[in-house]
Amino acid sequence: MVTKKALVTGLTGQDGSYLAELLLDKGYQVFGLVRRSSSSHFGRISHFSNNIQILSGDLLDQCSLMDALSEAQPDEIYNLASQSYVPISWSQPALTAEYTAIGVSRLLESIRRCKPDAKFYQASSSEVFGQPDESPQTERTAFRPRNPYGVAKAYAHWMTVNYRQQYNLYNCCGITYTHESPRRGTEFVFRKITRGAALIKLGLANELKLGNLDARRDWCYAKDAVYAMWLMLQQEQPDDYIIASGTTHSVRELVECAFNCIGLNWQDYVSVDPAFYRPDEAVELVGSINKAQKNLGWQPQYSFEQLVELLVDHDLKEITERGISH
Ligand code: GDP
Repeated sequence: MVTKKALVTGLTGQDGSYLAELLLDKGYQVFGLVRRSSSSHFGRISHFSNNIQILSGDLLDQCSLMDALSEAQPDEIYNLASQSYVPISWSQPALTAEYTAIGVSRLLESIRRCKPDAKFYQASSSEVFGQPDESPQTERTAFRPRNPYGVAKAYAHWMTVNYRQQYNLYNCCGITYTHESPRRGTEFVFRKITRGAALIKLGLANELKLGNLDARRDWCYAKDAVYAMWLMLQQEQPDDYIIASGTTHSVRELVECAFNCIGLNWQDYVSVDPAFYRPDEAVELVGSINKAQKNLGWQPQYSFEQLVELLVDHDLKEITERGISH
């Protein structure tokens, strides 16, 4: 059997690291495109980095992308790299556009010139919907992004679709909603809560301060999300799909569930601190996964409750084994 080859950008991030693991499990030869400056961020991939071929390249530099494609000759390309932190997209809107929008133009143009038979996955985001007209959102819901990151992702999405139509390339966009895992930073509320609960359970903290408990999100597991990305490139026809859980939960439900896992009453430990309130709270977004279910046979394997339990267990274990500073 011929070994398939995949090139992943954003390899060192949460999704890139899970996707690379999935591809290695499936017997792929995996190449990772990595900026030279990110060599110090190998934490998420250190346990399998020896099995991956690292290529130096940057979405800002077209030549480096063409060189990487020529060298790897990938059958599949997954673009998971971007400047993805929304507050930074306000302070550095042009740089965000360079990476998240124009970077995709450079990559598409490089594919067209160097490897037009490769299948391409573009990581779109629910941020493209911004303030949508309908709920749940579908693949046909109009894009109304509300921050420079969402605007850049909308551009990248439509360029990917346009290159599919214009040049007949096998291009897919996956519009992902929030997805979590043990590799997610603790500044995000999901892991802030699971880690906070673990610290309290282990007697290392006695309170957890949070912001808006009524905020709601459509949360799913990052491993489920990367499986959908791979499935999209295994179809006969390229298409665009929403990747979400299809339901929302509030931060309050999340806290309650995490404290249930450790057998404590959350109200005894959680307090609301206005410092964590957002002045511009995002609109509640929820994705319809009907199309992914029907065409890809995909649906999340982990429920909200299972995901909370998975992360609480992980955080309890990690703190016990590696200490509080990790
Ligand atoms: P994102 O806003 O979707 O990128 O992800 P976050 O995990 O940072 O926030 C999710 C929601 O949790 C937002 O609506 C926040 O207002 C809400 N939230 C409530 N308390 C907190 C908190 O202490 N930290 C964070 N990060 N978010 C909080």
